[in-house]
Amino acid sequence: MLLELREKLDNGKISAVELTQAYLKRIAEKDRKLNSFITVAAEQALEQAKNAQKRIDRGEAAPLTGIPIAVKDNICTKGMKTTCASKILAEFTPVYDAAVIERLRQMGAVILGKTNMDEFGMGASSQTSYFGGVKNPYDLERVPGGSSGGSAAAVSAGLCAAALGSDTGGSVRQPAAFCGVAGLKPTYGAVSRYGLVAFASSLEQIGMIARSAADAGLLFDAAAGRDARDMTAKNCRKNADEMHTVRIGLPREFYGEGIREDVGQAVLQAAAFYEKKGCKLVELSIPYTEYAVPAYYLLSSAEAASNLSRYDGIKYGCRSQHGSTYEDLVRRSRREGFGPEVKRRILLGNYALSSGYYEEYYKKAAQIRACLRRAYGQALEQCDVLLTPTAPETAYKIGSREHDPVRMYTADQCTVSANLTGLPALTIPCGYDENGLPIGMSLTGRAFDEPFLIGLADVFEREFDRKEAVL
Ligand code: GLN
Repeated sequence: MLLELREKLDNGKISAVELTQAYLKRIAEKDRKLNSFITVAAEQALEQAKNAQKRIDRGEAAPLTGIPIAVKDNICTKGMKTTCASKILAEFTPVYDAAVIERLRQMGAVILGKTNMDEFGMGASSQTSYFGGVKNPYDLERVPGGSSGGSAAAVSAGLCAAALGSDTGGSVRQPAAFCGVAGLKPTYGAVSRYGLVAFASSLEQIGMIARSAADAGLLFDAAAGRDARDMTAKNCRKNADEMHTVRIGLPREFYGEGIREDVGQAVLQAAAFYEKKGCKLVELSIPYTEYAVPAYYLLSSAEAASNLSRYDGIKYGCRSQHGSTYEDLVRRSRREGFGPEVKRRILLGNYALSSGYYEEYYKKAAQIRACLRRAYGQALEQCDVLLTPTAPETAYKIGSREHDPVRMYTADQCTVSANLTGLPALTIPCGYDENGLPIGMSLTGRAFDEPFLIGLADVFEREFDRKEAVL
């Protein structure tokens, strides 16, 4: 996929401008159905493509030179609107690039535009956007997952070669699973968060959504600033080529209650596949898993309450027309500018942090986080990688869950632990349900084991019978 595009660009079978035009045309034709882009930057993209072509002609192409990608709309792009799908930032154009964007530009990647998402990354369905909800390419009546639903839908529908998202509690992996593509949440600290609009800083990472694990790896190498010619990073303790040495952990907590049976079965079939390849399966238990979701929502909301206090209608974004005093202006700007889910998180976060409750809530959640870290550390001594479902079910109908926040939150049960522990996790499709909707499986590894996860996923993908969405 990305490697094939690279080859075509380098052989002159297609020019960077033609490739960019082809994607722009597909966006124009198909995105009316999906609503996966908030901004399409056609002119800027074609300009970048022209420059990329010059570089290819000089024989100086980097791995992503001339490759058209999309970027989630909470990653700052200089001169290109960055809205976080919120009314409060609807007209915000950053004056600087996020660190990852700088890197991608230096490599000559082409940025097609900015993708739709849940407002400020808060959500799991991509329906809370100020710019309207996103649809799933496999079934337009269903959600694409979230919050990076625009990026996942765009990659799945072939509207871009790959995309960046952000993952605070599962927002790269869960939409990737719902849209049948690969999604990587890197180890905390592997990729710079500079220029990622902050939601919950201690949990989030910029992640990669692509058509295969190997493609996600190429994008990761570019974003993490490593040399793409050196996929075997130094920190990696395991090599996926030596399958007989790999121990795959199956944590009990991820296969029981709350997980739809066919989803669990599909992932266990993938486990059987690895076993046939020589891997050893290890059944184990990860204590405290049941507390991960409440701990995540407490901590992330507390951080969000603090991070989002900067939107006062004065320094950034939309300002109310009606404020009579400073306080009144701030209050009205926030009331008008934020959507209901964002307000819910700010309220929850401030409540959890308020004096008298701090010990009871925030501190408890922080303790659970520490316990989970220890539990994952111990689990990853018994095995090299954990294999779990990515989401408890497949893409659901738009409007069927969004009115019930607690139900929406519990749907993150398979993803939040990687954020609380900082560990890397990669999802790829491993099957389809009776409606033909993709099922995702996740590989969670030790810190900085991304290349190993990618290698292991690649072994599966090579023999997996993938079904494309038909749009
Ligand atoms: N669904 C989770 C939430 O709503 C995760 C969001 C994210 O990863 N940005 O907080």
